[in-house]
Amino acid sequence: MALLATASSLLHKYSLVPKRNTPRSSLLFLIEMASQAEIEHPKKAFGWAARDPSGLLSPFNFSRSETGEKDVAFKVLYCGICHSDLHMVKNEWGFSTYPLVPGHELVGVVIEVGSKVEKFKVGDKVGVGCLVDSCRTCQNCSENLENYCPQYTLTYGAKHRDGTITYGGYSDSMVAEEHFVIRIPDGLALDAAAPLLCAGITVYSPQIFCTRQAWSTCGCGWSWWTRSHGCQICQSFWC
Ligand SMILES: [Zn+2]
Ligand SMILES: [Zn+2]
Repeated sequence: MALLATASSLLHKYSLVPKRNTPRSSLLFLIEMASQAEIEHPKKAFGWAARDPSGLLSPFNFSRSETGEKDVAFKVLYCGICHSDLHMVKNEWGFSTYPLVPGHELVGVVIEVGSKVEKFKVGDKVGVGCLVDSCRTCQNCSENLENYCPQYTLTYGAKHRDGTITYGGYSDSMVAEEHFVIRIPDGLALDAAAPLLCAGITVYSPQIFCTRQAWSTCGCGWSWWTRSHGCQICQSFWC
């Protein structure tokens, strides 16, 4: 799976998965964890989940909902590793729930669309960022500022309206309403597109809303990606 092939080295770098010479007892632990499936929805899915604040991820069989009439289902091919994921895995912000499948920079290819989906078709390249739902009725939602909605739903570690848990992009599939699905242009490589969905927009959005004077006093210190690529975005705007 391309996602795991891409992410595995970084997962090991941050010690999120056991080392290569894993003892047999640890392997049995992984098998046991994988067998404890979550089956709330009809579609089988596979991901990597944190089970506690230890910082380790293990295989996780879970489920995705059926593709609703306004939903887009896609095969996840790449997922960025945001530093927020590391905080959430280790419950460093105090509100993580387990099992927790991180990942809010996921991209892939559409495999199914609902009957009322208008913007996407099977085969399109798409992605999902930090949110998968919001109230859709408040002032912020009406202005396309769903990230300020008091009832937004995070892509992982939150609850859908039906009370089931949201699971993120360290997984093989995703189902989300098309309003929260983003088209990836054909000319943009999927692996390069993934980090744009959190780190990228974190840098881009202030460029739109801030003045040049404000930016002259700002820095890009959030993560490796925002420091390296974010400054390139700043330069494209202001230099
Ligand atoms: Zn709202
Ligand atoms: Zn992020």
